[in-house]
Amino acid sequence: MSNDLYPDLATRFIKRFGTPHTIAAYAPGRVEVLGNHTDYNEGFVLSAAIDAGTWCLATPSPDLQCRIAAGDIEQEVAFPVTDIRADRKTPWANYVKGMLAPIVKQANPAHGVRILFQSTIPLGAGLSSSAALEIASGLALTTLYGIPRSKLELARMGQAAEHEYAGAKCGLLDQISSLFGKAHALVRTDFRSLEVTTVPAGDATCFLMCNTRVKHSLVDSEYNERRARCEEAAAFFAKILSHPVQALRDVSWTEFEAHRAAMHPVTARRAAHVIGENERVLKGQRLLKDHDLAGFGALMFESHESSRTQFENSCPELDAIVESARTIPGIRGARLSGGGFGGSAVILCHPQDASRIGQQLASQYEARFSKTPEIRVITPSDGARLLPG
Ligand code: ADP
Ligand code: MG
Repeated sequence: MSNDLYPDLATRFIKRFGTPHTIAAYAPGRVEVLGNHTDYNEGFVLSAAIDAGTWCLATPSPDLQCRIAAGDIEQEVAFPVTDIRADRKTPWANYVKGMLAPIVKQANPAHGVRILFQSTIPLGAGLSSSAALEIASGLALTTLYGIPRSKLELARMGQAAEHEYAGAKCGLLDQISSLFGKAHALVRTDFRSLEVTTVPAGDATCFLMCNTRVKHSLVDSEYNERRARCEEAAAFFAKILSHPVQALRDVSWTEFEAHRAAMHPVTARRAAHVIGENERVLKGQRLLKDHDLAGFGALMFESHESSRTQFENSCPELDAIVESARTIPGIRGARLSGGGFGGSAVILCHPQDASRIGQQLASQYEARFSKTPEIRVITPSDGARLLPG
């Protein structure tokens, strides 16, 4: 799929700007497969770059003006390269501006840029269209202005663009997954060292992303409560364990079990989820190496059960999908993916069963909630790249 949009977009670039593009970049979306709420606890996550992404075509302007066009929505913004500011009226452009601003600051260029981008990722569906846009434009712009950046530097630029230009306080998972993804493999990130490795998952692995289309209220205050409980738990263990504890990452399940009775019961449940998730990611990585997809899928179900009962970041719609998944033949594992409280569930299956399983999941969900979930088949895919001119 990844080259479908490119030729047409190149033609549209010429039509819009009267000149061909000179740089083209592509960056995929991502799916969180295992390791839930572990990133801000300095733990581990398994994710994948997906087979949908964003193309970004660019060329230098003849003057100081920048023109950025969003091909999906046929909108364009223009501004001088000397004055890059976020604008709430065109939120989509802020992601690109957030990548352009630090590059311009360093390169101090004598020209602006023309950009046209387009995506196959649904926006706001939990597949990280925003990171794909940042990384595709970041790759194109660093190349165009001749200031190459490492993958981790680009990931950090994307995160800063979200924080400072889009007003979204995200971590680094989305950008890292988009950059480091590999075909038929999962990306394992250590959120303390930011060491990233890929773990082959085999050709027999695909995922279904099942978007409940619900977002429950009070999500922000629930998030804050979870973060505060995790910090409280880390502080508790820092006092009683003989080794240093900076974050829940430093606490093993055995240590947790030995001391949980002395903890506030809610704090203990929140900690159990994060500590359990970290251990599941490490175990999951070993199972993938042994080609044990059934074992890996069982960890996904465990992860969801832990979300449901301990972290309490699930909801009836997500629980219903996972309950269905336990009964539909061919499904190896299922869990909520991302922050929770609505959003999407990720389901592991064999590619040849994906379409049938998607239909069964959808009809069971419709029967119960009288609304249609959005279901997509996802194949772990290669990460962001420049495209040959
Ligand atoms: P997600 O990253 O999960 O898709 P976000 O809310 O973080 O959801 O980002 C979605 C936003 O990113 C959109 O509302 C839009 O502003 C911007 N965006 C991403 N890709 C595109 C695109 N191809 N065209 C226009 N806007 C886009
Ligand atoms: Mg996003």
